[in-house]
Amino acid sequence: MQPAAGKLREHRLTFQKTKGKIHARAVSGRFNTWRWAMVWLTQIVFYGACWLQWPGADGPRQALWLDIAHEKFHLFGLVLWPQDALLAVFALVFAATGLFYVTALSGRLFCGFACPQTIYTMIFTWIEARVEGDHLARMKLDSQPAGPRKLALKLVKHALWAAVAAWTAITFVGYFTPIRELLPAIGAFATGPWESFWLLFYALFTYVQAGLAREAVCQHMCPYSRFQGVMFDPWTKNVAYDAARGEPRRPGRSREAGAGDCIDCGICVQVCPTGIDIRDGLQYQCINCGLCIDACDQVMARTGMPAGLIRFAPEAAGTPGGAAPGPAARPRLLLYLALLVVSCALAAWTLARRPPFLVDVLRDRGALSREGSDGRIENAYTVKLVNLGDARRDFVIDASGQPGLDVVGERRFSVDAGSIRPVALTLAMPADGGPTGALPIRLHIRSRQAPAGEIVETSRFILPAATR
Ligand code: SF4
Ligand code: SF4
Repeated sequence: MQPAAGKLREHRLTFQKTKGKIHARAVSGRFNTWRWAMVWLTQIVFYGACWLQWPGADGPRQALWLDIAHEKFHLFGLVLWPQDALLAVFALVFAATGLFYVTALSGRLFCGFACPQTIYTMIFTWIEARVEGDHLARMKLDSQPAGPRKLALKLVKHALWAAVAAWTAITFVGYFTPIRELLPAIGAFATGPWESFWLLFYALFTYVQAGLAREAVCQHMCPYSRFQGVMFDPWTKNVAYDAARGEPRRPGRSREAGAGDCIDCGICVQVCPTGIDIRDGLQYQCINCGLCIDACDQVMARTGMPAGLIRFAPEAAGTPGGAAPGPAARPRLLLYLALLVVSCALAAWTLARRPPFLVDVLRDRGALSREGSDGRIENAYTVKLVNLGDARRDFVIDASGQPGLDVVGERRFSVDAGSIRPVALTLAMPADGGPTGALPIRLHIRSRQAPAGEIVETSRFILPAATR
């Protein structure tokens, strides 16, 4: 005969699953504390960083600003251009390899502690619990027929969800349109079509993903959960139930001879945000959040048993707790570490060698050459000066490569911070019987603010044969 407590637990678990919505029981403990620490950390950074200001050439500007309209990314004092795409590639490789490394080390740690889906689901379920009550109250409310109280609670919850989703969308778009300009524009209903689209899309996305879809995203939509297994090795730590110690289960607190430590209370399942039973073994739905560890450790403490019936343990340990070998015996870890170091070093090298400005030289196609008032032959060019820096820059242009070649007229130009300025340049050389045709020349472009960073561009000087 099944004890009454066992029947009640089974009823609750069945109820949880058949209703299709998981109302996880709240639990405290070290993993829950770490998860909330990550929520605070990530959200303070996300909601706060777009408000940071940085002194620019024309006054303070947003420190983190993806200025898509002008194809620039302001990263504090650094201005990145499309030419810096290689840096983005290295950053992506670094981020992806870092994720692979953490996964090889400790399974889906990212999913349980840092994934935006997890973070926002935690925030939304926290709001739900404040409005509707604990997991039992929420399950009861959901099973009740519609009425004024239920309607009022649901309205308040959804209004709060909508407010968080809206502010999240505003913050997200605020990294593309400076948030100090975006807020007044929203207030005046004067946002552009793209801003309006992304505000609505991202707000709806957050609301649906974190409020309605929740764990279904981790279970059915997230591709990462399907291929994460290829990053595991036998020593990857995952949340695991110590079956050797826990089985056979002993329902209630009775101590039968030969019974395991698991009292089959089901609390580890009730606290699970994805609604799985970790005692069934490693499952792709498990996000390694560790909440079942928190729950079980408390149960073990109450029953006078040592903690750790559920814990982070590698599969290869056989029984949890075996010592993992060093990195040398784990080639996968070594490979990920090497990739991390290489991508980091390449990014630093690319950044260090990044020129402070760029130059593009074009010969004027209208006239090949002309005779100047002093009898010399002149060619006209357009020099595009790209100031990659965050301050105004002064340039000086010289020419070499042919005897007597010189710049006629203006050779000094200023370019505003983070701007492109095409300038007209005239070169002249004497027609004194030397070689004619398309003669190779060099243009030397120096910045007064970075004299060592001279750029040399090659071009052609057209000297017609008839002139010599
Ligand atoms: S919380 Fe621990 S004791 Fe309770 S059912 Fe889960 S594994 Fe068994
Ligand atoms: S089984 Fe445990 S670690 Fe895995 S998702 Fe559920 S509560 Fe989190």
